[in-house]
Amino acid sequence: MTLSAKQFQQKILDWFTQFGRKQLPWQQTKSPYSIWLSEIMLQQTQVATVIPYFQRFVKHFPTLSSLAKADIDEVIRLWSGLGYYARARNLHRCAQTIEKDYSGKFPKDLLLLENLPGIGRSTAGAILALAFGQPASILDGNVKRVLARFHAVTGWPSLSAVNKQLWVLAEHYTPKNKSIRQYTQAMMDLGALVCTRSQPKCTQCPLQNHCKAYTEDSTNHYPSPKPRKTIPYRTIKMLILINKNQEILLEKRPPLGIWGGLWSLPECSITENMKNFCKRHYYCEIEPPIKKYAFLKHTFSHFQLEIRPILIQVKHWHPPLMESERILWYNRQQLASKGLAAPVKKLLSDINMEAEF
Ligand code: SF4
Repeated sequence: MTLSAKQFQQKILDWFTQFGRKQLPWQQTKSPYSIWLSEIMLQQTQVATVIPYFQRFVKHFPTLSSLAKADIDEVIRLWSGLGYYARARNLHRCAQTIEKDYSGKFPKDLLLLENLPGIGRSTAGAILALAFGQPASILDGNVKRVLARFHAVTGWPSLSAVNKQLWVLAEHYTPKNKSIRQYTQAMMDLGALVCTRSQPKCTQCPLQNHCKAYTEDSTNHYPSPKPRKTIPYRTIKMLILINKNQEILLEKRPPLGIWGGLWSLPECSITENMKNFCKRHYYCEIEPPIKKYAFLKHTFSHFQLEIRPILIQVKHWHPPLMESERILWYNRQQLASKGLAAPVKKLLSDINMEAEF
């Protein structure tokens, strides 16, 4: 038996009253700033991970205006560890755009919101629904999973045709009345707590009796996975250059690309002559390597990186003046004060455990 949109909503709302999450930090307000911030942080990241980042962020930047005025380095530093750094840069740009073009107030219009940096259709819908109580739909990863299973929608959800189909369903079920806030949160919660990626708890689901995937005993077939492709593998040497004061050379990454805007260690290809490389790029005369550390592996969405860390003593450093912005000699004791790329942070913290190099 199929459910009407009204029956579907009622089941979801009844379930939410009993089991939904109501104590998340960003739920304690209807502030569009907090809701937007949490929505951006929650993209590709779980609630438990987001909570401390969110709290730290709003403590540092309690208002949209304070975020808009902040230095991007500070924003990146507070984001450090959450990954997908384009989100942090877009967050900053978005705050500045709202300050400049909308006098610091979030527009209450789907298309205007969607045009802001880093805000897609689903995030725009979440802001409208949760902050302004407007009947807008969302389709984040959790909602996609629930709907794909409930209707046994085949195909990878990011494919345009499948995505369209899921949006039609999302809009069909979205209530047009004041229950929109609870319904929106309920759909996210149902996906996160019950209709989980693996081993969904169908016996606790309010949709169980009407769910196609459950009826067909095929919940693990939905949503269809991304078509597989092999990820390329790259190997690099990561140079830990230390000077006579036991300081380590750090380099600021360009704003775009991996670890954009974060501080990292010099990287060179495994075939490159390190002596020439250090002289050409970092103005350093170096001694032969002191130590090679265990390899690190880091997986990005589009490739795998094998990092071979090498400790090298620097004899002389003769930089031109304008390089002072890009290069920094880093005091080992001040680990937390810079936004570091994740593997660099781990590597430096492991090295810091050693009393002496
Ligand atoms: S019955 Fe199971 S598969 Fe279907 S929506 Fe509920 S939790 Fe997901």
